[in-house]
Amino acid sequence: MPPVTRRAVLIGGAAATLSAAATGTPAAAARSWDVIVVGAGVFGAWTAHHLLAAGRRVLLVDGEGPAHARASSGGESRLTRGAYGSDLVYTRLAMDSLPQWQSLSDAAGLPVFHPAGILFFFPQREAFLEETMRVHRALRLPTELLDRPALVRRFPQLDFGDVEAGLLEPGFGILMARRAVQTLVDRFVRAGGTYRRAAVAPPRRSEANMVETLDGERLAADRIVFACGPWLGRLFPELLGPRIFPTRQEVFFFAPPPGDDRFQPARLPGWADYNGGDIYYGMPDVENRGFKIAHDRHGPPIDPDEGDRTPSPQALADARAYMERRFPAMRGRPLNEARVCQYENSSNGDLLIDFHPEKPGLLLVGAGSGHGFKHGPAVGRYAADLLLGRPARPEPRFSLATKDVHQARAVH
Ligand SMILES: Cc1cc2nc3c(=O)[nH]c(=O)nc-3n(C[C@H](O)[C@H](O)[C@H](O)COP(=O)(O)OP(=O)(O)OC[C@H]3O[C@@H](n4cnc5c(N)ncnc54)[C@H](O)[C@@H]3O)c2cc1C
Repeated sequence: MPPVTRRAVLIGGAAATLSAAATGTPAAAARSWDVIVVGAGVFGAWTAHHLLAAGRRVLLVDGEGPAHARASSGGESRLTRGAYGSDLVYTRLAMDSLPQWQSLSDAAGLPVFHPAGILFFFPQREAFLEETMRVHRALRLPTELLDRPALVRRFPQLDFGDVEAGLLEPGFGILMARRAVQTLVDRFVRAGGTYRRAAVAPPRRSEANMVETLDGERLAADRIVFACGPWLGRLFPELLGPRIFPTRQEVFFFAPPPGDDRFQPARLPGWADYNGGDIYYGMPDVENRGFKIAHDRHGPPIDPDEGDRTPSPQALADARAYMERRFPAMRGRPLNEARVCQYENSSNGDLLIDFHPEKPGLLLVGAGSGHGFKHGPAVGRYAADLLLGRPARPEPRFSLATKDVHQARAVH
């Protein structure tokens, strides 16, 4: 196999050529794989990684490239935290994923993970805080419960106003989203996996072990994984069209005052203002991109291909008003950039990792629901275990059967 560079993965055409060389193609169409993974977002990339590590021949395809600008895994950064109230399923997924992120980061040229810590704060000692502390103590996580004087002392750059308590999670922090996925796909190719840039047509009713590209090429495998984020509803319109709800989400980066290091990751963790579940969250000025802020509330429905990605003046005004109240030194600071991306929500926020009800060889992976990125490594391992028939106890909350057609968010 010719040497593979990260650049080759980043540049779609080069990657496709490379893959063709590796397989001695044009016969690639005739080749059969153990598993084809469609979608090189965080879930597809980690699934492909774990299948390859288990000795399977894996083809990973994506129509637009790993963590491209409109993918839910695109963009700069994501929070990883273990605070999920009493919810052990996601606390454990986040914990299991963290060392895998760390080792990817250790192997990468530039950091994939910044262990800046995570700070959640609350207007009162509500159930989410108390339950998180109970679960974290039982799991021996070093999470600290901070009262108001401790918050004020440790984070003087925040105006805690009506805040009564906080949770500080050392060890968690910030993942560099696009870089993480692209690094992982690069490592997958270096380890012997094949990546191709190709768009796959919606699967036909009769074929469970075959995908067809939009160019008409047929690719066969024993198993197929569809990890297509907000596009899952389009690929499986009857099954998932009514069960995946893409919503428009806006993200803003503001310039901290020059020379002011209070917004650097060494002094400010990733943070979330919980406020009964109506969450504003943000990040310090990681890698000098700017102080990031976003409202976690679901925006209106968006089409991932055609939806308008122009930031709205109202969301910008709201983010600025929040920021200037909570972080007084950021008053009047200029906007560096803004992005519009989408959450791909399930009805209640639970992930989807389950077989297609009519195509037993076809696994559906998605519904990250605004909190999925951090779980990528554990999701990939769980999906690989399901495909390999390992004796994993399937988690009912990831099943298709639990995915409703009406939205009622329960996971934050
Ligand atoms: C603004 C924002 C903030 C977020 N913040 C956090 C956070 O702080 N912490 C956290 O843990 N999570 C967060 N999330 C959620 C998380 O980023 C997503 O849930 C996760 O990235 C979803 O990954 P995915 O692999 O399912 O989808 P995607 O990344 O969208 O990947 C799907 C891929 O499938 C490909 N594809 C689709 N159709 C086809 C086809 N027909 N043929 C070939 N390829 C196809 C696409 O091109 C795409 O690359 C956030 C999300 C957003 C948008």
